[in-house]
Amino acid sequence: MERQDIIDTAEKYYLPVFKRLPLVLDHGQGAHVWDTNGREYIDCLAGIAVNSLGYNHHFQVKAIAEQAAKLIHCSNFFYTDIQAKAAKLFCEVSGMDRVFFANSGAEANEGALKLARKYGTNKNPDKFRIITAKMSFHGRTMATLTATGQPHYQEGYAPLPQGYEYVEFDNINALEQIMDDKVCAVMLEPIQGEGGVHVPHHDYLAKVRALCDKFDALLIFDEIQTGVGRTGAWFEYMNAKVKPDILTFAKGVGGGIPVGGFAIPEKLANVFKPGDHGGTFGGNPLAMASVYATLSAIQAEGIISKVQENGFYFKSKLEEIALKYPEKILEVRGRGLIIGMETTKPATDIVNLALEQGIIVNVTVGNVVRLVPPLVITKADIDKVVSVLDRVFAQF
Ligand SMILES: *Cc1c(COP(=O)(O)O)cnc(C)c1O
Repeated sequence: MERQDIIDTAEKYYLPVFKRLPLVLDHGQGAHVWDTNGREYIDCLAGIAVNSLGYNHHFQVKAIAEQAAKLIHCSNFFYTDIQAKAAKLFCEVSGMDRVFFANSGAEANEGALKLARKYGTNKNPDKFRIITAKMSFHGRTMATLTATGQPHYQEGYAPLPQGYEYVEFDNINALEQIMDDKVCAVMLEPIQGEGGVHVPHHDYLAKVRALCDKFDALLIFDEIQTGVGRTGAWFEYMNAKVKPDILTFAKGVGGGIPVGGFAIPEKLANVFKPGDHGGTFGGNPLAMASVYATLSAIQAEGIISKVQENGFYFKSKLEEIALKYPEKILEVRGRGLIIGMETTKPATDIVNLALEQGIIVNVTVGNVVRLVPPLVITKADIDKVVSVLDRVFAQF
């Protein structure tokens, strides 16, 4: 199909829930993608922080192809070698003891919320309160959109599941006032992603941990966006030095294959009894081959330390741009390769201006330019992105 045919056909048949850019992507290599007109872009969105190894990573492609030829799917009625290997490796790199694999971020968080409810109500039927943060994002299923502390995601879906309450992020007093022993879980993103790349003060998460311990509430870190190397550690909880009871992950873990899940310490391994949770697809061999390849490549290629180095470099270059245009840019925030630039006016034009010059960026909450490139982006590409953004902000 020709480009316009593709767009028209998609517009006719696909449910119109997405605001799309008029770009038809065809293939990629490293941090670069090409559209059907052969135009090349440096991708600072990476499928929304998903394509951690970029595009066409030889090791990942080979692992998926080989697994596809052997066994794409069986069910969790059987063991597979690749699922055992992926589970072990995931636990090793995440510092957790047990893992459950599902297929998306929302599903990962659903599982975590269910486990927390079971944990709480096993102790006391009234121990069901779940506290999350304002401006958080946890997904679009009924429970996870309820957990999401942004009312516009909830409009029209009432009645919502009960027992969810919200506090201001990075405000320990607000949490302190609302905590009691009826709380079964506090769920937070250690750095808020969709909400505008908000990094909390250095001691906030430790204080949240202490409050959870005091009231025997589980601390859930939603690391769906921050996990798997994105912030220059395997998980952001390691940078924060605050360990959650439940760690949820998705986006980057499968390097582009849809995988999510949650991980827990051994002490929570028996909260769910056989039959309490599950899924047909989660942990399937094809997905596990991609998880195993992605995590192995991150290890073998030293990608975590490259993210630290390149992330620091990228952010410092963007801070120079912010100093140049103080009337346009309020702040540059982030850690590793999740960086937000908050602008003084609505920033949607930035997306198109950057696209015209061959760079894919994203804007979240209307005025935060979000950069979440593949973890393998090179310094040379970062330099190109920075010079384009410099020109874009001059025009903006
Ligand atoms: C993207 C995201 C989700 C939802 O993941 P889906 O795979 O879209 O369901 C949940 N939490 C956070 C922090 C996210 O960034």
